[in-house]
Amino acid sequence: MANLPVRPEIAAAAPYGAPHPPVPVRLNVNENPYPPPPEVVSSMSARVAAAAAGINRYPDRDFAELRSALADYLIREAGVAEISPDMIWAANGSNEVMLHILQAFGGPGRAVTAFEPTYSMYREYARDTFTAWKPGKLEADFSLEAGHGIGHIARARPTVVLLTSPNNPTGTALPLTTIDAIARHAEGRAVVVVDEAYAEFRRPGTPSALELLGEHRHLAVTRTMSKAFAAAGLRLGYVAADPELIGYLRTVRLPYHLSAITQAAALAALDHAGLMLAGVAELADRRDRLAAALAAMGFEVADSDANFVLFGRLADRHDVWERLLARGVIIREVGPPGWLRVSVGTEAETLAFLRALADIRKELE
Ligand SMILES: *Cc1c(COP(=O)(O)O)cnc(C)c1O
Repeated sequence: MANLPVRPEIAAAAPYGAPHPPVPVRLNVNENPYPPPPEVVSSMSARVAAAAAGINRYPDRDFAELRSALADYLIREAGVAEISPDMIWAANGSNEVMLHILQAFGGPGRAVTAFEPTYSMYREYARDTFTAWKPGKLEADFSLEAGHGIGHIARARPTVVLLTSPNNPTGTALPLTTIDAIARHAEGRAVVVVDEAYAEFRRPGTPSALELLGEHRHLAVTRTMSKAFAAAGLRLGYVAADPELIGYLRTVRLPYHLSAITQAAALAALDHAGLMLAGVAELADRRDRLAAALAAMGFEVADSDANFVLFGRLADRHDVWERLLARGVIIREVGPPGWLRVSVGTEAETLAFLRALADIRKELE
């Protein structure tokens, strides 16, 4: 081994990433299974070609046109009154947006809190920004009781609080009253980030935290085009918050972090938001049917507002995961011990998963 002066916490770590074997049924990373229709593909190609013609120049480093298109989209999606372009920031996936948030508001001597089980990348952003990771815990049913959350924050004293709604890997959404109570407690001490990566899949009656932006200048709501928007390959995530908070994210970003190609392709996707999101209602309906089918098989199923379902409890979840893989179905081994997470795919993929699971149950009887 080369004798490299690597940070000990990096030396011991494996790079993040779910296994990606080339199997026919891929239900492991919560992608939208429907590729964009040809109309969107050609419009994206045209926009990208125009950007390519000027590729000798650096891109618009503040991506004004894209911020304005994202603001318009959020106003329509969440039915909120006003989101201006200076309330929007974007980066290469909401993962990079989170990194910007921790670069600006975390750092040495500071802490970040989230409530587990939750997205495992958060602790990596903490490590990469030298921010202490001080997670709390969700209740046994994966809800978050506001008083309990506030108690944890009072003890851990983070400068960044991450709330994930709908949460990954559980699928559970937080009521606005809980987010509001935590935001009130955190005012003057922490920024509160609501990660709404799966928001477009939420059930009717589940509101977006975008509705609270007007009340809290330390609240940020992150979104992504990777999930419902069916553009995981694009790498475009974004955040809405008060312009002052956004200003600090601009300060820490690398120059020209969002390429002209990404900006062009994202604008084309947003031009056709309706087509990109066309499968969402169908996927949400299939999620509810998948959850019901798993419950009918006798599994415990977490309440989901996302495009995946967490189910348990399995005596040996790794064995079940491997047996599914042997049948050409990959899901995700994540969440509390005994639970597995399955993404909602096409009707055929979802049925293939349910059939394979039923077979495995028989085998194990
Ligand atoms: C998938 C996911 C994201 C999105 O990541 P991108 O970098 O935008 O692809 C963010 N948060 C959670 C909880 C996720 O599951």
